[in-house]
Amino acid sequence: MKIYNTLTRKKEEFVPVKPGKVGMYVCGPTVYNFIHIGNARPMIIFDTVRRYFEYKGYDVNYVSNFTDVDDKIIKKANEEGVTATEIAERYIKECKKDMADLNIKPATHQPRATEEIGGMIEMIQKLIEKGHAYEVNGTVYFKTRSFKDYGKLSKKNIDDLEAGHRQIKVTGEEGKKDPLDFVLWKPKKEGEIAWDSPWGEGRPGWHIECSEMSKKYIGDTIDIHAGGEDLIFPHHENEIAQSEACNDEKFANYWMHNGFLNIDNKKMSKSAGNFFTVREIGEKYPLQVIRFFMLSAHYRTPLNFSDKLVESAQTGLERILNAVDLCREMAQSRPEGEMTQEDQKHFAEVEKLVKKFEAAMEDDFNTADAVSAIFEIVRESNSTVKDGTAAYAKKVLNVLETLCGVLGIITERKEEILDAEIEKLIEERQQARKDKNFARADEIRDQLLEQGIILKDTREGVKWSRA
Ligand code: AMP
Ligand code: ZN
Repeated sequence: MKIYNTLTRKKEEFVPVKPGKVGMYVCGPTVYNFIHIGNARPMIIFDTVRRYFEYKGYDVNYVSNFTDVDDKIIKKANEEGVTATEIAERYIKECKKDMADLNIKPATHQPRATEEIGGMIEMIQKLIEKGHAYEVNGTVYFKTRSFKDYGKLSKKNIDDLEAGHRQIKVTGEEGKKDPLDFVLWKPKKEGEIAWDSPWGEGRPGWHIECSEMSKKYIGDTIDIHAGGEDLIFPHHENEIAQSEACNDEKFANYWMHNGFLNIDNKKMSKSAGNFFTVREIGEKYPLQVIRFFMLSAHYRTPLNFSDKLVESAQTGLERILNAVDLCREMAQSRPEGEMTQEDQKHFAEVEKLVKKFEAAMEDDFNTADAVSAIFEIVRESNSTVKDGTAAYAKKVLNVLETLCGVLGIITERKEEILDAEIEKLIEERQQARKDKNFARADEIRDQLLEQGIILKDTREGVKWSRA
């Protein structure tokens, strides 16, 4: 499997730290608002990377954080007259809802920065002890020049950076010894949320959060570190400096960065105001269309968002779902028995296309080509499945479901999912009645009634219909 590594600017063969395991860390959102569909791009991409590793049998430890303390969160809290914690809680909840609607698997660990302050303080202390950091009036700075490889990810030359920094003076950072140094710990300002530390009350800088959380939940060396390409500098460059200076180990073996989601060729961003939230877009399109749209392009190329392109993705996705429907129908209605020779010939074709799908994914997760391979399977299936056996239809169905699953595309129609949920509730009600738990049985009946589902007890069992 080949991955384009931002660190070397090359595609490299993937070799895990521990055989059969992948530890990956994806920088998560700062939670002060609803996420926009630009933020959703790395979530969808790296969830798909995870799914592919799992499809290949790897055990993936997928860690993605919430940055729940930050200037923007504090500003929003002050505007609303509530606490920063209340803002963070609210938008973590909303973000999790959007992620679920985009069919993003919950991370193995989803740490919140504010729950990890102790570990961050320890790392900062170690950096001070090792001469990589210093404190001035309650602020702790990382001594950038003390880390000789600084700039290796972003390919920036430290002396050029120095020249660029000379004019910039940030208020409150007057004690900095070198303009290149960056903050690890900042002292509390009036009315701000703060934690005790050896340097007085304060809060961590953004970069140290990710260094600490990846160390704690994965280890000193992680396989893959990922995020949007805007994070390469300074965020990821600073993470490398802090982690490698503290741990004396290589921080991440592979760095993956997604390109931007653009509008009119400009990066979608909250500050530019040219954004759509996932919530808004979800009112216009099923969110899995957005997921499919994002995967129809290579993750490293910029992707322009437009209704025309999303509508074309919708048509494409519909073609795949129709092919799945047809397979399901044929799996029911075609003759039983073993696959015929003709079926076997067709299925060999399908298997070749599965290999094509895998080859695309193994070439730096080229989901655009992987999607094309699925379309070829759809074409093959549509032209053969009506004349084959039920066994053949089932096998093709299984292939389509599996490959769509790798991309995080749900092949069941919404009504079918709903039907399955209703049937599960009815079963639970039957059990409750058997157990003489009539309160629960009545509760389920009322809940279903609220959804417009009417139950009828018949001699053959419970029948249901929509009102
Ligand atoms: P933020 O909350 O701004 O720190 O962003 C969270 C994640 O979304 C980071 O990995 C960013 O790189 C990514 N991101 C933000 N805007 C875009 C965009 N327009 N296109 C792609 N990724 C983005
Ligand atoms: Zn980060």
